[in-house]
Amino acid sequence: MTKFEALGLAQPLLDAISDLGFETPSEVQEKSIPVLLEKDTDLVALAQTGTGKTAAFGFPMIQKINADSRTTQGLILSPTRELCLQITNELKLYSKYVKGLNVVAIYGGASITEQAKQIKRGAQIVVATPGRMKDMIGRNMVDISKIDYCVLDEADEMLNMGFYEDIKDILSNTPEEKLTWLFSATMPKEVASIAKKFMHQPVEITVGTKNAGAATVQHEFYMVGGRDRYAALKRLADANPGIFSVVFCRTKRDTQRVAEKLIEDGYNAGALHGDLSQNQRDLVMNAFRKKQVQMLVATDVAARGIDVDDITHVINYQLPDEIETYTHRSGRTGRAGKSGISMVIITRSELRKIKSIESKIKQEFIQKQLPSGIEICEIQLYHLANKIKETKVNKDIDAYLPAIYDVLEGIDREELIKKMVSVEFSQFFNYYSKTKDLNSSESGKERGGRDDAGYGDIPNEGSVRYFINIGERDGYDWMSLKDFLRDTLNLEKEDIFNVDTKDSFSFFNTEANITEFILQTFTDFKVDGRFVNVEVSKSPGGSKGGKKRSGRKGGGGRRKDGGNKSFKSGKKGGFNKKGGKKRSGFY
Ligand code: AMP
Repeated sequence: MTKFEALGLAQPLLDAISDLGFETPSEVQEKSIPVLLEKDTDLVALAQTGTGKTAAFGFPMIQKINADSRTTQGLILSPTRELCLQITNELKLYSKYVKGLNVVAIYGGASITEQAKQIKRGAQIVVATPGRMKDMIGRNMVDISKIDYCVLDEADEMLNMGFYEDIKDILSNTPEEKLTWLFSATMPKEVASIAKKFMHQPVEITVGTKNAGAATVQHEFYMVGGRDRYAALKRLADANPGIFSVVFCRTKRDTQRVAEKLIEDGYNAGALHGDLSQNQRDLVMNAFRKKQVQMLVATDVAARGIDVDDITHVINYQLPDEIETYTHRSGRTGRAGKSGISMVIITRSELRKIKSIESKIKQEFIQKQLPSGIEICEIQLYHLANKIKETKVNKDIDAYLPAIYDVLEGIDREELIKKMVSVEFSQFFNYYSKTKDLNSSESGKERGGRDDAGYGDIPNEGSVRYFINIGERDGYDWMSLKDFLRDTLNLEKEDIFNVDTKDSFSFFNTEANITEFILQTFTDFKVDGRFVNVEVSKSPGGSKGGKKRSGRKGGGGRRKDGGNKSFKSGKKGGFNKKGGKKRSGFY
């Protein structure tokens, strides 16, 4: 018996589940499905999006509904058009083997007559936004007087958006004896009072004790001067070349401005806020889904419907006023079992807010340093090299190759690589070689001064930053990489710090006095037949601690006898000297 079978689900649903590739029920599914199948009960479930809650109410509803009757039996209210469509699509997938079952979405911004037609054809399940639902009830376009099940999805969001009265009106058109299943990420007073008012002794379930998804989201903050917010945002984007993110701003104006500036600066960005027309919002959302937009700058309200699973980063350009809003924001990443990062850009005076959020979400923030300009250049350079390596050759260029060979004739391989990489790299280098350290110090001293090194996890004056050619793609996160380094080098936990994993490479720090030992250990060092290469990073490790860079000498010294396989020797072309073999990871 599969785990889904054990929950009491019938064959048509099990077949759909198997097609979808779901292997094990999520926590909210395990807790809700048997209860909803076995008992005729109301339910209050505290669960966030991304936890599988659509299936948690969708499976039981589909199983209990009579698909032979055309009467509307189930109503699902959800806060936004986006979510409404998402739920409808999911339910259609879940019910693909249930003959005759129709799920219809009704929401604002689309033809009401077309939606009314679909309802008329017979919709056993209607998924609706409150505004449009109320409208259609008023025009007798939908009949919910015989429903058996009503789901209030993202109840806290709906109330936040001011739908209380609409919900009340809608519910007054439904039978008293229907069952109500309420799902909410948080339980503010308003939601509790809805539960009390409209539900009868609901079964209560909570998914996870903390903020759901917490285990998969890492929370980080970056402290900068108030004027450096935008520059900090750019650095975060540049330091994460594969970023696919939502950037939250507090106001529509800021949202528009930040998006415009990002676009102006050459980023794949888009704005999403309430002053845009539905059409404009659809365009930007479609582009985001297709990853043509890598940074979606949004207000909290507009972002509510975003239900995209593989968002890598949530960036809080400004902190929200309400802590609960932070929970919603960070819940946009780390979904469906993937890991995600929620980054917050703050000024020194906002540090207290971080503490309040920590106590609310029961998770600690990691204070991180914005990468220096040089570090970003390095990241971009390796990213570019990787991109070139992994680019599939387009057969259609064959016809042009003879002419291209002509143009490039006489340039040797090394020179060609340097030129090719410079095409893109120079743009970063020119920009960042002139930039300053943006990190603001907790102690109150202004950035740029020596005292900046005085807090948190910034390397000491005598620490050295290293580059290592393994990263997340090889299955490491910062903790496991630290373990790997400790075990390999036989060091203590605190000897290795500032471990920062990227997609295909990482950085870490040690005290300068062991640099020689580190580099020696990683000379001709292989794991699973692959060379693992460690080099002293050119960057100061995200802090000004690197200014003295006494450790750089260690790197240089090693290079003399250890052979040059490094980008570190720098602009003079160390990039591919003898390193071709060892640095195979980068080409
Ligand atoms: P939801 O919280 O309902 O928005 O679901 C988030 C995503 O997880 C959706 O793309 C679902 O298709 C997917 N999902 C739901 N249940 C499971 C499961 N048991 N195993 C794997 N994926 C699931």
